[in-house]
Amino acid sequence: MPPMSYTASSLANRKETPRAGAVPRILVVEDEAALSLLLSYNLEAEGFVVDRIEHGDHVELQLAENLPDLVILDWMLPGVSGLEICRRMRAREATKTLPVIMLTARGEEGERVRGLSVGADDYVVKPFSVPELMARVRALLRRASPERIANKLTAGDLDLDRETHRVRRGNRDIHLGPTEFRLLEHLMEKKGRVFTRAQLLDNVWGQAVEIDERTVDVHVGRLRKALSRGRERDPIRTVRGAGYAFDETFGRN
Ligand code: CA
Repeated sequence: MPPMSYTASSLANRKETPRAGAVPRILVVEDEAALSLLLSYNLEAEGFVVDRIEHGDHVELQLAENLPDLVILDWMLPGVSGLEICRRMRAREATKTLPVIMLTARGEEGERVRGLSVGADDYVVKPFSVPELMARVRALLRRASPERIANKLTAGDLDLDRETHRVRRGNRDIHLGPTEFRLLEHLMEKKGRVFTRAQLLDNVWGQAVEIDERTVDVHVGRLRKALSRGRERDPIRTVRGAGYAFDETFGRN
């Protein structure tokens, strides 16, 4: 066991939790329960949604069911090792560029190189300070998906402002209900990416809800009606048999 010298950042600094559509999701894969708990407390205090896994064999299923925005991955795990998990993630399309921070008790240069060679984005040696790890998480998220934390999302003549909750197209204000706003925000964060109805329900409506998937179609319909008038181009793409995406070519041609 490495010495425990983790310092928890004060929960008094708890920030206001961002809106559902904008909350980055972090997967913590760590078999030391105390450390896993400490990390999730701190990540949640920063406003992130946290999933925790303690066994290497359970990671793939979790990634398939609920793709996070970043993974904190311990090297030594029961079952599949962190190193092997990272290697497999890089071999799959869905997780090829997913940011990974590896945690390890080994600090030798050779191990560091091995960790980075399987595709980890960053590498932290235990024991580490929690505030430092939090800083690395934020830095990596900023680098990986600047749109996740930008206040304004823009595509062509469409602007969405997260602070004021205003949406404009050209010079007219677009009035959206709260669900349509979150839906648009979520789609615009990852332009071009196709989300299934189940993923949209999970990410926009929240995990706990039991709603018929057709509800998504109803809200997408309302969103479309609000966004486009007359012959204006529809920025939302329906992908038959798959789901919906924000058209990444919108505003480019
Ligand atoms: Ca471990």
